[in-house]
Amino acid sequence: MANVANCKKCGALFLQTSKRDICDKCFEEQNRIVNEMNSYVINAPEDTVPLDKLLEKFNMKIDEFESLYVAGKFVKISQKVTMKCSKCGNIVPIANKTNLLCSSCAKKLQNEI
Ligand SMILES: [Zn+2]
Ligand SMILES: [Zn+2]
Repeated sequence: MANVANCKKCGALFLQTSKRDICDKCFEEQNRIVNEMNSYVINAPEDTVPLDKLLEKFNMKIDEFESLYVAGKFVKISQKVTMKCSKCGNIVPIANKTNLLCSSCAKKLQNEI
């Protein structure tokens, strides 16, 4: 069933026909940025691109990146984009992360629970 909802990004009313919480215009814009980010990283001469730098360049918030990442939008570049583990400070490709932790910290945390 379609609902009328407020776009989470621009606040405009739109007809919500799927689980998507942003309007068509913002969705298109987001797709465009995602494509640009992917090709930017793929074409970067460096071996790795820090996530901070990428977010800064494209003016994207980490929350937005996370949800797009979870949706599988950055699979192609997940070995080349790196982030700093918020626990141990190691630099790891985002492919090896769980939330904002490296896989070994994430494993440790899981064992502690
Ligand atoms: Zn919108
Ligand atoms: Zn770590």
